[in-house]
Amino acid sequence: MSGKESFKILNKIFEPKIKKEKEEIKGYTIKYGYIVENDEIIDEVLVTYFKEPKSYTTENMCEINSHGGMIVLRKILEMCLKNGAELAQPGEFTKRAFLNGRIDLLQAESVIDIIEAKSEKEAKAGIKQLKGSLSEKIAEIKQNILDIMVNIEVSIDYPEYDVEDVTNSQILKMLEQVENKLLKLEKSFDNGKIIKEGIKTAILGKPNAGKSSLLNNILKEERAIVTEYEGTTRDTIEEFVTINGIPLKLIDTAGIRQAKDEVEKIGIAKSKEIAKEADLILAIFDSTKELTEEDFEILELMQNKKAIIILNKIDLQPILTEENNKLLRKNKCPIISISAVKDIGIEKLYKEIEKLFNLNEIKLDQDIVITNIRHKNLITKAIENVKKTKETINSGMPIDVIAIFIKDILEDLGKITGETVSEDIINEIFSKFCLGK
Ligand code: GDP
Repeated sequence: MSGKESFKILNKIFEPKIKKEKEEIKGYTIKYGYIVENDEIIDEVLVTYFKEPKSYTTENMCEINSHGGMIVLRKILEMCLKNGAELAQPGEFTKRAFLNGRIDLLQAESVIDIIEAKSEKEAKAGIKQLKGSLSEKIAEIKQNILDIMVNIEVSIDYPEYDVEDVTNSQILKMLEQVENKLLKLEKSFDNGKIIKEGIKTAILGKPNAGKSSLLNNILKEERAIVTEYEGTTRDTIEEFVTINGIPLKLIDTAGIRQAKDEVEKIGIAKSKEIAKEADLILAIFDSTKELTEEDFEILELMQNKKAIIILNKIDLQPILTEENNKLLRKNKCPIISISAVKDIGIEKLYKEIEKLFNLNEIKLDQDIVITNIRHKNLITKAIENVKKTKETINSGMPIDVIAIFIKDILEDLGKITGETVSEDIINEIFSKFCLGK
C-alpha cells in the first residue's frame, strides 16, 4: 500500500507480535505479526515499512509478506480494500514516483523495460536509463539550449549595441553543437532497436536445404532464452532467442515447421515477403547439390540486405564450397559452411552475425543507447526544429522570432523527460505496466 492512509489501514488489520510496537512506525524496518479479522488470525506475516519521502513512491508505504497462496492473498487484499485501500492501476506505484517527482518519465519507462527485458543487454540498457544516464544527457542538451536563449535575450534587451551579427554566428555554432549531440543519440537507436527487438532474422532456403534443422539447432542452444510471439501476420510465430548475447527474432518459424507437413512447401513469393521484412537473411543451401533456379532466386532476394550464405551438410560430400563456387562469391555476403545436424560451424555463424551488426561496438557501460521509439521520435523532432531554427537565422529573421523556434526544441526535449508531456501520453505509458509495479 502506498499513500497517506496506508499505515492507518494497515493498523486495522495487522497485529504485531510485540503489541506496544503497533503505533511506533520507523522507515526501513520490518515487523513480525499477524493479519487478524474478528480476533481470528488470517496469516502470519512480515510487514515492511517505508516512511515518506524515502520510499518508491515518496509516500508512506508498507508491504505485507504473507505465506502466499490464493486464498490467504485474496483474503488480505479484500481486508485492505474493505478498510479503505483502493486497488492500484497498472503501473500506479511507478506513476506516483514520477508524479511526485522522484524519477522522471525516462526512468519510469525504464522500469517496464527492465521487467520486460528478453536479453541481458536489454536489461542492462534499462538499468542504465533507470540510473538516469539518458536523463542527464537530455538535461545537458537542455542547458546548452538555455545558454543559447541567454545569448538571444542579451541582444533583445540591448539592441542599441548592434551585437546581432556576432550573436547570430555564435548561436549558429551553439545550435550545431546541440544538433550533433542529438544526432548521436538518434543514431544510437539503430543499436537500441536491435537490443530491444532483436535482429529480425529470416531463414530461407529451398525444401530440404536444412532450414528446420538449423532452426532447431539455434533454438536448442543451451544458452538460448526462447520466447514465442504471435507474428504480425496471422499464423506466423516469431521466436526471440539470445545467443552469445546476440538477440535474434526469428521470423516465420511456424512457416518453416509447417512446410514439413505440406505437399506444397514455402514458395518464392512467400520467401520474398519474409525477406522484405527481415534485418538479416540466413540463406541456406544444400552443399551436396548443384545450385538450381530456386537457389538463384533466393540469392536474388539477398541483394542489398544484410545476409549470410550458409552451405549446409558439410558432414556429407559437399560439391558446393566457399572457395570454388564463383556464383556464390559474386554475391558480397559472407559465406560459411556448417552442418546443422552434426552441429558444425554454428559458432562461426554467430560470429558473422556479430560482425554484420557491429554488436561488439555497443558498449553499454559507456555509451547511451536509445531503445524507446517514443524517445527516438522526439529526438528526431528536436533535430528538425534545430534545423528550422538554423534556417530562420540564415534567412535573416529577427532574433525574437528565433527565440520562439528555440522554445520548440526545449519542449520536444521536455516531452522525453516528462516535464512538458500531456496527461494522455502519461496515461498511455503507464497503462502498459503490469499490476503492482
Ligand atoms: P528444410 O526442408 O529446409 O527445413 O530441411 P530439413 O531441416 O528438414 O532437412 C532436410 C533433410 O536434410 C533432413 O532429412 C535432415 O535430417 C537433413 N539434414 C539437414 N541438415 C543436415 C546436415 O547438416 N547434415 C546431414 N547429413 N543432413 C542434414
